[in-house]
Formats: sequence, structure tokens, C-alpha cells
Amino acid sequence: MDRYLFPTVVLAALVGFVLATAFPGTPWLLEGAALFKELFLSVLKMIVAPLVFFSVLSGIVRLDAAKQLRRIGTLTVAYYVITTAFAITLGLTVVFLFHPWTNAPPLSAIETASTHATLIGTSENTFGALVRNLLAQMFVNPFAALAKLNILGIVTNSIVLGLSLLMVLPSDSVVKRSIHEITNVIYKLASWAVWVVPIGIVGIVYQMTTNANLALIGQLAAFSGVVIGTTLLHMVIILPSIAWLGGRIKPATLAKKTFRPIVVALSSSSSAATLPVSFHAANDLGVSSTTASFVLPLGSTINMDGTALFEGVAAIFLAYLFGLDLNASATVTVFLVAMLASIGAPGIPSGSMAGMQMVLLAVGIPLEGILILLMVERPLDTIRTSANVLGDLVGCVVIDRHADVK
Ligand code: ASP
Repeated sequence: MDRYLFPTVVLAALVGFVLATAFPGTPWLLEGAALFKELFLSVLKMIVAPLVFFSVLSGIVRLDAAKQLRRIGTLTVAYYVITTAFAITLGLTVVFLFHPWTNAPPLSAIETASTHATLIGTSENTFGALVRNLLAQMFVNPFAALAKLNILGIVTNSIVLGLSLLMVLPSDSVVKRSIHEITNVIYKLASWAVWVVPIGIVGIVYQMTTNANLALIGQLAAFSGVVIGTTLLHMVIILPSIAWLGGRIKPATLAKKTFRPIVVALSSSSSAATLPVSFHAANDLGVSSTTASFVLPLGSTINMDGTALFEGVAAIFLAYLFGLDLNASATVTVFLVAMLASIGAPGIPSGSMAGMQMVLLAVGIPLEGILILLMVERPLDTIRTSANVLGDLVGCVVIDRHADVK
């Protein structure tokens, strides 16, 4: 399948496009497209909860000493924070140098019913709400976390369980061996998920072509251009440079080996659903399974460079549309809340929209701004998800090189 994925994906996209052009909006084709897309997403989602649970667990019990866990944990968190901060800074810098939407005046006609929050007051509330939300996602009953696909909850539960197993069980324990064996079985299952990618692509391309809104121009197009351009800059220059300098992986090798997860991220708009394919890519990149099983699941939910960049640029764009002048402290607030919101966003399609509301509230932008963003949300989600996924894979490469795990 591996060798045929690219031609199959192109063919699938072509089939979707030709069908949408020849028979636009045909009810049974629309139904079929929705069915194909659902099948694709369901198959990917079916495998995610057990994959995350067992891969984190086996990653932790494989570490033979708490010291090793501390090292890989510290490196992972440091990598996530630094690259996410870098991505938002890149987005905000590009916006301040180059903001094409200011050619047209703000939307002064927009009457807002929502209260304009005062900067200081709301940012406090918003931080509190964000932290409460994060804690509520992390510390939950493990069965509820698995059933609801709450990735942060699953990761927390398996880290806690893994730590206790590490402390209690001897290194040759049969339980540890069984965990590794179950994890391998789940990896095998996960590798089958890639077979449904072309089916999903036919459905998605048909839907997107049929629903295309050609009136989407002006400021929204300019905003989208800035988000796409900056995200691509991060994906093509920054992340490959980090992989090269920090992980000794050449940009061409990185591009080749991460192609599959990027295609799945583009078509699923979900970092969590892309996990099965990301594990394969990490293996191809020579990353040890211990590192991959710790860094990838955690990264798919808390390391979102593309999401953080999008939220930062979107806040500045909406502030302009609503005629708000963002001063330095408001810009810092955007930076910090976008960072927290990207950590809290689940790796699912439009997962960042809830956190986006927090960013808007924090700097007093009316919540109606979300409706404006929703008009361009779907295409932009595809590109930011692929940046999120590439960020996780580059993290794997760099952390694997420096964490000294087997
Ligand atoms: N769709 C993104 C992801 O899964 C999250 C988001 O930015 O909405 O990584």
C-alpha cells in the first residue's frame, strides 16, 4: 500500500473533483460523499483511544529508571513550549509587518450583542477558565476518558498508571511484557487504517468542491493567505531546520518520510486521527519506539504549532475588523492565551474553536468574530493540522536524539 498511496490519493482527489464538477450537488452523491468521509474518520478514530493508552503506557514501562523518564519528559515539554512559542511569534511578526486586510476599512457596520470584555478583568477570568478546563480534561475516570476520546485524559491516566507500574513491578515482569505485546498488536491494527485514506479523500474532495463559495474574497482571503503563508514558512523552513540541527535529519528525508501523515492530516483535519500513520513515519525516521510512544500521543493533544499560530493571527485580524487597537500588553495576552488554548485544544477537526473564544474574550474581541472565522475555518484547519503533525514528528526526531532512550 505504501508505494501506491500517493498515486491513489491523487486519483481519489481527481475522482471527487470530476464527480463534483459533472454532477454538482446530486443528493445521492452528497450522501455517498458524507458516507465515505464518515467511514474514513470513524476508522481512524476507532483505533485512537487504545493506541494512545497502550503506547504511552508501554513507552513509560520501557523506561528502566525514573531518571530516564524525567529526562525525556523535560525534553518533550521544553520542545513543545519552545516550538509553539516560536510559531505564534512568527505569526504575530508577519502580521505586524504585513497585514493585507487593512486595505479595506474595519467592519464598522457589525453590531455586537456580546459584551466587550475589559482587557485585564477578562484575561484573569479567561486564564482561570482555561486552567479549569485543562484540569477537567486531564483528571477523569479512565473509562470515561477512553469512551469519550478525551486524549488528554487518556494520556494522564496512562502516565499515572505507567509510573505506578514502573515503581511496583520488577523489570522482568510478565505484565510489562504483556503491555508491549498488546501495544504491538494495536500498532498492527493501526497500520491497516491507512487503507481507507483514498476512500475518505473522494468524499472530502466532492463535498469541498460542491460547497465551494466563490464569493469568499477580500479581507477573509487576505487573512487566509497570511495564515497559509506563515504556516507553510513554519513547515518548510523552521521545522526542517530544527530537525536538521537538532536531529540530524536532512530536509529532503524529512519531507519524504513525513509525506503520508501530512496527507492524512490534510484530509482528516485531526492530529489524533493521524496518530496511527504518524507512528509509522516516526519508525521510518529511525525514532525509537519508546520515544515515539511517549512523544507522539502527548504531542497530538498538547503540541499544536499550527493551531497556536492560527489563533494568534486570527485575534489580530478580528481586532482590526472590529476596530480594536491592540496595545503591547494585549498582544502579550494574545500570545499567552493562544499558547494555553493550543495546549487545551483536542486534536480533532475544529478542535481549536472553543479555545479561540477564550483568546477573543481575553482581549475584548466580540465573540461574533468566531462566525467570521468559521467561513474559512475548514480549509485553514487542514493546513494547521499538518503543521501540528509535522511539529510532533520533528519533536520525536530531536527528542530521540537527545533523550538517550533505547
Ligand atoms: N484540527 C486541529 C488538530 O487536530 C486542531 C485545531 O486546530 O482545530 O490538530
